[in-house]
Amino acid sequence: MAKILNELSRTFGEYLLLPNLTKRTNSPENVSMQTALVKYKKGQTCPLTLDIPFTAAMMQSVSGAELATALGREGGIAFIFCSQPIDKQAAMVREVKKQNTRVGAAVNTRDFKERIPALVDAGVDVLCIDSSDGYSQWQANVLDFVRKTYGDSVKIGAGNVVSADAFEFLARHGADFIKVGIGGGSICITREQKALGLGQATAVRDVVEARDKYFKRKGIYIPICSDGGIVYDSHIIMALAFGADFVMMGRYFSRFKESAGKTVTRDGKQYKEYWGEGSMRAKNWQRYYDSDATQRQVFEEGVDALVPLVGTLADNVQKSVYKIKSTMCNLGSLTLREFTKSARIVAVSSVGILEGGAHDVMLAQPK
Ligand code: IMP
Repeated sequence: MAKILNELSRTFGEYLLLPNLTKRTNSPENVSMQTALVKYKKGQTCPLTLDIPFTAAMMQSVSGAELATALGREGGIAFIFCSQPIDKQAAMVREVKKQNTRVGAAVNTRDFKERIPALVDAGVDVLCIDSSDGYSQWQANVLDFVRKTYGDSVKIGAGNVVSADAFEFLARHGADFIKVGIGGGSICITREQKALGLGQATAVRDVVEARDKYFKRKGIYIPICSDGGIVYDSHIIMALAFGADFVMMGRYFSRFKESAGKTVTRDGKQYKEYWGEGSMRAKNWQRYYDSDATQRQVFEEGVDALVPLVGTLADNVQKSVYKIKSTMCNLGSLTLREFTKSARIVAVSSVGILEGGAHDVMLAQPK
C-alpha cells in the first residue's frame, strides 16, 4: 500500500507571526537583509551574498538583460532563462556584466556540457539547474560535471525539491544552493496535470529542517531558495520566517516595466505578458534546433497569461523591502538570521484568514 502522510500540505497564507519585543534600535534603517546565496563551511564567510533576498525566475517572460540589470542594482540577482540558444543566453549575460552588475543563468540537463562553458566564459556569477523536479539522476550528472570541470570555482544551485531525501541527494552531489517548490507557481498547472507537489510552506519547512540537520552533521551551510507562489509581500516574509535564505519570484517581477514580456493594452489598461516555461509558448523555442523537441511536447505544465503593469522594479522592490524590514522590527530582529531564529509561527483557521483581511465594510474605493 502507498504511504499516506498524516498531514495537510500548507501554504504561506495559512500562517501568522507573533510579535516579539521591538527594541529602540529596531528601525528599518538599521536592518540588514544580507543573505547567503551559496554554500559555505562553518566558521567561514559566504563567498557570494545578496543584499536583498530576492531572485528573479529563469523564465522567458521575466529574466532578460534589462530586468537582470535593474534587480542587480537593487542588490538581488536574476537568472537569465536557458530556454533559448546558448549564444543568445551568453550574450544576455555579457550585456548585464557590462553594467558592473551581478547576474545568474539557468542551465538544463541536456546541453549543459556546451552551455555551462559558454556562460562561464561570458562571466556569469552563479548558475542554477532549471527543472520542475530536481530529484533526478540528470541533475546529479550536471553537478558532477561542474565539480569535475571547475572544482568549487563555479557556483551552481539545483532543484526543485520538496522533501528531505531530495535535499540530501542534491547536497551529496555538491549543490551550492537548493531550490524548493513544486506546483505553487502562479502560471503552473503541474499539480493539476500530474498530481505532483506540496504546499509551499510545508515544503520549505521540511527542506529547511533537513538543511539544518545537514549543517549540524557536516558543518556545511546550504542556502535554501523558496521558489514560486509568492502573491503578497507577506508571503516573502513567511518564506524567510520558515527559514528560506531567499525567494525566487516570477509573477512578482513580470509586472515591472523591465521584465522580458511585452507590454500589451486591453480595455485601456496596460498589462505585461507572462507565460510558464512549461507552456507550449515557451517550449516552442526548441523546435528551431532540436528535432526531438516535438516528441517531448505532449502536454503542458504551464499557462500563457497577462499581469497588470505596475511600474518600475526599483520603486516596487524598495517598497517590498521596507515592508519586510518593518516586520523584522516587529520581531525585534536586525538580521535575517535573528528573524528566522526568533520567529513564532502559528497556523490560522479558515475563518481566521477571513478576519485577517478588510471585512464587513464597503470599500470607499473598490479594487
Ligand atoms: P510565481 O512567482 O508564482 O509566478 O512562480 C514562478 C516559478 O514557477 C518559477 O520560478 C518556476 O519554478 C515555476 N514555473 C515557471 N514556469 C512554469 C511552468 O510552466 N509550469 C510550472 N512551474 C513553472
